[in-house]
Amino acid sequence: MADPLVRFQGVRKTWRAGGPAAVEALDLDIARGELLTLLGPSGSGKTTTLMMLAGFEAPSAGRILLEGRDIARLAPHRRGIGVVFQSYALFPHMDVAGNVGFPLSVRGVGRADRDARVARALAMVRLEGLAERRPSELSGGQQQRVALARALVFEPPIVLLDEPLGALDKALREEMQLEIRHLHRRLGVTMMYVTHDQAEALTLSDRIAVFEGGRVRQLAAPRMLYERPADAFVAGFVGENNLLRGTIQERDGDECLVRLDCGPLVPAQAADCGGPGEGCVVAVRPERVAVAGVAASDLGGGAWPATLQEAIFLGDHVRLRLAFGDGGEVLAKRPAGAGALPDPGGPAAIAWPEGAAFAFREAAPRV
Ligand code: ADP
Ligand code: MG
Repeated sequence: MADPLVRFQGVRKTWRAGGPAAVEALDLDIARGELLTLLGPSGSGKTTTLMMLAGFEAPSAGRILLEGRDIARLAPHRRGIGVVFQSYALFPHMDVAGNVGFPLSVRGVGRADRDARVARALAMVRLEGLAERRPSELSGGQQQRVALARALVFEPPIVLLDEPLGALDKALREEMQLEIRHLHRRLGVTMMYVTHDQAEALTLSDRIAVFEGGRVRQLAAPRMLYERPADAFVAGFVGENNLLRGTIQERDGDECLVRLDCGPLVPAQAADCGGPGEGCVVAVRPERVAVAGVAASDLGGGAWPATLQEAIFLGDHVRLRLAFGDGGEVLAKRPAGAGALPDPGGPAAIAWPEGAAFAFREAAPRV
């Protein structure tokens, strides 16, 4: 990337000498103005990465550049980076204006200028009129907006947010996701956002870095990540996927035939897998699986027998759980009201369009 705002270069972090790395071989550029999300399960190294950029932790190896300059020797408050944590870390004895104005006071900004900028920041997060409240007099969502305003008030080039919505209930979390998204688009400020919630990452991000075991498994735009996962881990972590184990039978370039452990022989795109005889995982999205209430033999090639075990109505869509082959199981999703369901236990067939199945190496065991 030409002229990134932030560049991680071969960054590694071990918490104790000789111990396992919390972050390993991290090369990551953050473009000016983008919202980049670090997405991954608990313990995958997201917070450690954020803390190194903020300056609260030092890398064990590698360099972090901000606007082209190595920031290793720069104390956190000299980096000019705004940070928002899950626990809002507001000062309970100060009112909202005092909290939001704090970074300006620390920087020696004069009273009049400070008041104007605090008012602007409060308007940005729609908290006008609450300037004199104490944090204890605010709802969780309002407190998080104060934390956001405090991180934005000194107009930092980048704001880091670590699971900022983790303490909020689902409805409020979704509302705040949109607010952060709109704020980001409107202000053009660069953001690095940490979450373990894949739906949140898809909602907010320009790009997503999927972390696992301290490494970035894939870095891509949301749609790309969903449609072209790079490996079995990403395929399983981002969105829902059927992950069916099998063995490669034939391979011809990007196409392969896989004998599933549950019996059927299925074609798949050879996304990231070996050759004949090697184990693999075939990933098919539930919404790509078509289900018909007829015997597979009536459909010709490209359909397999299955048995409907359970249909769960979820308002806008129906989830179908099907027995597949010998001990296999497939999940299918279809819009509610999209045709009749097979009779439970009666004849049924499943099929998916060409190109909807991807073969990956089996996820390497964690060490
Ligand atoms: P995430 O934010 O993705 O949940 P973290 O970056 O917090 O993950 O943690 C990555 C790894 O580093 C984990 O194995 C965690 O236990 C370890 N770790 C995190 N913080 C510390 C710390 N202060 N001291 C020792 N180990 C830590
Ligand atoms: Mg964390």
